[in-house]
Amino acid sequence: MSLALVHSRARAGVHAPGVQVEVHLSGGLPSTQIVGLPEAAVRESRDRVRAAMLCAQFEFPARRITVNLAPADLPKEGGRFDLPIALGILAASGQIDRQALAGWEFLGELGLTGELRPVDGALPAVLAAARAQRRLLVPLGNGPEAALVRDGGACTARTLLEVCAMLSGARPPVLAEPAQVAAVPMPDLRDVRGQAHARRALEVAAAGGHHLLFVGSPGCGKTLLASRLPGILPEASEAEALESAAVASVSGRGLDPSRWRQRPFRSPHHTASAVALVGGGAQPRPGEISLAHHGVLFLDELTEWDRRALEVLREPLESGTVTISRAARSAEFPARFQLVAAMNPCPCGWAGDTSGRCRCSAQVIARYRAKLSGPLLDRIDLQVEVPRVPPQDLRPDAAPGEDSEAVRDRVQTARARQIARNGTLNARLGQAETFACCRLADADQALLERAIDRLQLSARAMQRTLRVARTIADLAGSEDIASVHLTEALGYRQHTAGTQPHAA
Ligand SMILES: [Zn+2]
Repeated sequence: MSLALVHSRARAGVHAPGVQVEVHLSGGLPSTQIVGLPEAAVRESRDRVRAAMLCAQFEFPARRITVNLAPADLPKEGGRFDLPIALGILAASGQIDRQALAGWEFLGELGLTGELRPVDGALPAVLAAARAQRRLLVPLGNGPEAALVRDGGACTARTLLEVCAMLSGARPPVLAEPAQVAAVPMPDLRDVRGQAHARRALEVAAAGGHHLLFVGSPGCGKTLLASRLPGILPEASEAEALESAAVASVSGRGLDPSRWRQRPFRSPHHTASAVALVGGGAQPRPGEISLAHHGVLFLDELTEWDRRALEVLREPLESGTVTISRAARSAEFPARFQLVAAMNPCPCGWAGDTSGRCRCSAQVIARYRAKLSGPLLDRIDLQVEVPRVPPQDLRPDAAPGEDSEAVRDRVQTARARQIARNGTLNARLGQAETFACCRLADADQALLERAIDRLQLSARAMQRTLRVARTIADLAGSEDIASVHLTEALGYRQHTAGTQPHAA
């Protein structure tokens, strides 16, 4: 009897739990049994492993082969375990030294000729292997992703034969190499002409991490504005970038190394399914809200979205995570995104426009806006009307807007004040912290109470308004919230206020 043990990793949410591949050879009729994988995956994996071994001039043992993937209750997709299974069979049959496998973990799908094909979720696997004090070997195609973990020590190989040469000492381990790509510049605010009010709202949103809604006619520049938000946020920290990259890594869409440390900007279409938006599937994969983790989620045509899909957003908007439950298992994905939404003011899109071309009745407009639930709107702190830009501002010789770098400097200064005071951004303050650091003068308190009454604001919206006022004061470098800060914050609540029945 011969036994070999190889370490590998599964994919569960953004984690990479360890899997032990045990291979046992015994007498009896030649057969290959793989325990712990679904039947179809077993068949495919068995065929690939066999072909790859023969192609690499190894012998496929004519014995009874039992492969066990443990623990049994982990999610296991077939392909990623091809390489560890092949190595297990080679070690159990004495074709490679089983001691050489110690200290290593392996991931990779095998092609029929023995080449290694990239797998999903390599990045979380590198992190987990490093924590377990083992080195991970991944297919060359996963190299740039694996190299994002500095000091992760991940290695790459092109073929099964190269892996075996490395294990026998005939070939030194090859460290995963980062991709040599030029960073893609982010869209800049200088391209936005006019729109002083909307630009200001964007800056306040960036400074405090507040969610934002643009209301305006088609073509007024809502998308242009929204796409500039990531560029005025501070660069993602290494830890944040790794978290975002881990989500992309397990999403099955791969990573774009040219956008390393840039904050993601996701703009799914309103016809996207709830699963595409929040994540799901038999082997749960992250949706757009998780792909926007530490970045911006832009939902255009907000009133056109399926209302149920939008309601699911309420929880992640508060907690920064989303839990996807399926019959068999559940997975949690991070989803701390900043929401920028956009909508038309009315069904025809032209309500409030100076051209007067809107013919929608007040009733029709009210019904249109009521498509959005009060609780969702409550969570959007800044609600801003975006008018059409007057033609003279669009002339080629018109002055360009202030560029993103200048705005980002102010945003960073305001954020530093918040971190120094509370250790977090204003948008994420709890109730007690909000009341502690958002005290108002008596006259302003009275002003706020009158406004709550007039705008029919909920308790939640009232607190959120206070936090926005705090951010505006931080941008102004002010210790206290002054009337002018509070008034501006209340101004961002005017638009959709009073058109909704509010729920607490
Ligand atoms: Zn209209």
